[in-house]
Amino acid sequence: MGGGLVGSLLALYLARHGHAVELFERRPDIRGAGPIEGRSINLALSDRGWRALEGVGIAEAVREVAIPMHGRIMHDTQGGLTFQPYGQAGQSIYSVSRAGLNRRMLDLVEREPAIRLYFNQQCRRVDVKRQELELLDTATQQSRVVSYQHLFGVDGAFSAVRSALQRTDRFNYSQEFLDYGYKELTIEAAPDGQWPIEKNALHIWPRGQYMMIALPNLDGSFNCTLFFPYEGPDSFATLQTPEQVLAFFQRVFPDAVPLMPNLQTEFFENPTSSLVTIRCFPWAVHDQVLLLGDAAHAIVPFYGQGMNAGFEDCTILNELLHRHGPNWAEVFREFEAQRKPNTDAMANLAVYNFQEMRDRVADPRFLLQKKIESKLSAQYPDKWLPLYSQVTFSSLPYAEAWANGQAQESIMQRLMPHIQSEEDYQRPEVQQLVAAEMARRPTGPR
Ligand SMILES: Cc1cc2nc3c(=O)[nH]c(=O)nc-3n(C[C@H](O)[C@H](O)[C@H](O)COP(=O)(O)OP(=O)(O)OC[C@H]3O[C@@H](n4cnc5c(N)ncnc54)[C@H](O)[C@@H]3O)c2cc1C
Repeated sequence: MGGGLVGSLLALYLARHGHAVELFERRPDIRGAGPIEGRSINLALSDRGWRALEGVGIAEAVREVAIPMHGRIMHDTQGGLTFQPYGQAGQSIYSVSRAGLNRRMLDLVEREPAIRLYFNQQCRRVDVKRQELELLDTATQQSRVVSYQHLFGVDGAFSAVRSALQRTDRFNYSQEFLDYGYKELTIEAAPDGQWPIEKNALHIWPRGQYMMIALPNLDGSFNCTLFFPYEGPDSFATLQTPEQVLAFFQRVFPDAVPLMPNLQTEFFENPTSSLVTIRCFPWAVHDQVLLLGDAAHAIVPFYGQGMNAGFEDCTILNELLHRHGPNWAEVFREFEAQRKPNTDAMANLAVYNFQEMRDRVADPRFLLQKKIESKLSAQYPDKWLPLYSQVTFSSLPYAEAWANGQAQESIMQRLMPHIQSEEDYQRPEVQQLVAAEMARRPTGPR
């Protein structure tokens, strides 16, 4: 249920295992009318996502429409820029259009003889005991009841399949909203169709309690997202008129304003959307129902990992299908046992990264700490992999990355009082402290 990003990929994996799949999607076919490819909302795709796409042989097709972002560029209130690479040379995350990616995947799904794809099919109800579900055809308003053998709920953060599980015994569920919302805005392409700011980077305007980010599109424009408090002195509540919006942006994002000719219109026409973390368990009912993707673990978007985590769900399920063959109960049981601690850790990492992006990246001490961490990593490559790289450029389980990240942070808390500049790292007394810390650390991808 759900033909979004994770649902389409999952259908491909199931078909490759020889299963007949029926894929139901509530929306009309997005490959008809809709935003032009490259101009819609975009997402950061990283190693875990690529690995899952490679597993069904579609990574190359996606790479053609993906823009590499080698690092973050921070914009200060004077228009000054600071660059921070994401990883080592050659490592990047990629900006891809959500709609473009979804369209490409639906094309591949449609070409797969084992998959039947249905649009305008809204899941209204699931009867877990009878293994039946009710579908409303939103084009004709006709309802029908369909029975299922194995039902995969990949219908997103507000999943109808999960709603049915919520009414079963001992199902745990929590949803936690941030006091922040987000709004999509646009930096337009330059008149010659080129990118008006550096193309191969993720741009951040960190402002302490809030921030704006921008990811490049193929057509020279950038898709911006303002993450902003709902209430308070600078908040959605206080920006009520076009004049207030312009004055605010001129005050806090002055270098972006000339690049956003439709700012005031977009600000009031585009919705303000909320940010939620959803946790639930169990994800499986016997060998009959399994939740994956946002339906199982919706997270806030600050690590750019929601889709990547959902794609990694498909990689893990694929491995388990290879291992346990047709024993679906075992596959589902092991899937939830393996994934739940990892997606919980990813949810924590995502909230943590919000503080880092909106606030800490503007702090010179923090930027110095990051530089020292990369020196540490270069000197002790088998003992220190920066947390961002563990999450973004590796397939280390998220729970291990989270634990390693916390251990690394305590080491940095002990080292940084002795370091005032990059050069200090080479001082013998600092090197001695570093060596002592590293001697206590186990070897491995940390
Ligand atoms: C602002 C923002 C920025 C983000 N940036 C990133 C990023 O940079 N990198 C990243 O990895 N992730 C990012 N994410 C997270 C990412 O968007 C999600 O994790 C991802 O879309 C989850 O995919 P999914 O297929 O599980 O759910 P969805 O993409 O939500 O797809 C669910 C599908 O199910 C359909 N559906 C829903 N209800 C029903 C129903 N009742 N019946 C039938 N069909 C139904 C929907 O129409 C939809 O097509 C971001 C999220 C947000 C909000």
